[in-house]
Amino acid sequence: METLIMATNNEHKLREIRQILGDKYEVKGLKEIGCLEDIPETSDTLEGNALQKARYVYEHYGLNCFADDTGLEVEALGGAPGIYTARYGSMNGYGDSHDSDANIACLLDRLQGATTRKARFRTVIALLQGGKEHLFEGIVEGEILTERRGQDGFGYDPIFAPVETGITFAEMGPTEKNRISHRGRATQKLVAFLGQ
Ligand code: IMP
Repeated sequence: METLIMATNNEHKLREIRQILGDKYEVKGLKEIGCLEDIPETSDTLEGNALQKARYVYEHYGLNCFADDTGLEVEALGGAPGIYTARYGSMNGYGDSHDSDANIACLLDRLQGATTRKARFRTVIALLQGGKEHLFEGIVEGEILTERRGQDGFGYDPIFAPVETGITFAEMGPTEKNRISHRGRATQKLVAFLGQ
């Protein structure tokens, strides 16, 4: 079976992709190949960051690899927070990096009085296989609510409602979310490519 590295230590992401690709590929995370360093993400685009991570693994370990990067792009904020989505709150004095409550509080404050609350989540997956690079993009359009709704999910889920559902990501189960989410859509494209 071909080995494919997913450039992450996120067990949730690894479990999800193994469930889909498990009979075709042996998907390993970074820890399993002994990659314990923090891979640099210094690009100013999601595409650049995903490619940077995949290239790092390919160059240092010689293994086929894919990496993802996700950003929330809010229209009234000119596409911010984008590549800064994970640390939006902490960058603006709202608590620690990767703190979802801080991120949400910051975004809600920034959108006070905004004339549009349109936003989208965008995921880019970069695959490096046999020295060739491939990009897969998944987008879900929606809007940022004025207050939290729902208990499930993570990150900005309680305030993001996709247009096709009207309920937030935090109000839907994982199956429904995966079907329409940015990451779900990018992953579906990756899987279709790998299944060819
Ligand atoms: P990452 O590139 O997957 O690490 O995502 C960057 C940041 O985007 C995360 O830290 C979360 O704050 C946010 N994010 C990514 N995916 C989701 C999602 O499905 N729901 C809510 N927030 C998300």
